[in-house]
Amino acid sequence: MRELADILFPRICPVCGVVLNGAEREICLGCLSSLPLTYFWTREDNPAAELFWGRVYFKKAASLFFYNEGSPYRHLIHNFKYKGRREAGAMLGRMLGKRLRESGLFCDIDYVVAVPLHPLKQWMRGYNQAEVIAEAIAEELGTKVLKGALRRNSFTATQTTKNAQERWSNVSGVFRIARKRSLENKHVLLVDDVLTTGATLEACGHALLESEGCKVSVATLAFVE
Ligand SMILES: [Zn+2]
Repeated sequence: MRELADILFPRICPVCGVVLNGAEREICLGCLSSLPLTYFWTREDNPAAELFWGRVYFKKAASLFFYNEGSPYRHLIHNFKYKGRREAGAMLGRMLGKRLRESGLFCDIDYVVAVPLHPLKQWMRGYNQAEVIAEAIAEELGTKVLKGALRRNSFTATQTTKNAQERWSNVSGVFRIARKRSLENKHVLLVDDVLTTGATLEACGHALLESEGCKVSVATLAFVE
């Protein structure tokens, strides 16, 4: 069936534009093997962790790959976030989860928590992209996603047009913890798609840390250089 579909509607690699063969899913094997991996999961002091120093205490931080404005991989993320390509995010999430597990640094995670989208945005998009990644990571880590752990207080304008200071004031106080008791003395892995200024993760981290004894680590697919 897939073979026939591939002939009628050839699937294209969003990174380089070649036609995908039957075994390739969201991306061609060449682009997959050239993904600029960060290897942040192999060491506790890394640029993702350093980004939060003095702002919020995260035990560990890791991202799967480097990313910038001109990166050809931005199409992969764009398709995942805005074009309904959930499987692209799930695939990258599994790749990250596998590395987190194999590093041994993330083996004491009790729950995975996704950065929440505003319900209206989620309804428009059909899914929360952070939750798609969180589910894939949780599966690899042999744990589960704690849904509804965080809530959004209000609708915020899109982050992409704001500078770092505006982003922080835009998200500060936006998130609140909704399952405080469930998170007591737990180690939570907070998940989002892209790590840029860290303002959203920082705000979520502050909310999660309101739960007594809760420890938080973070993981994202992309790390913006
Ligand atoms: Zn390609």
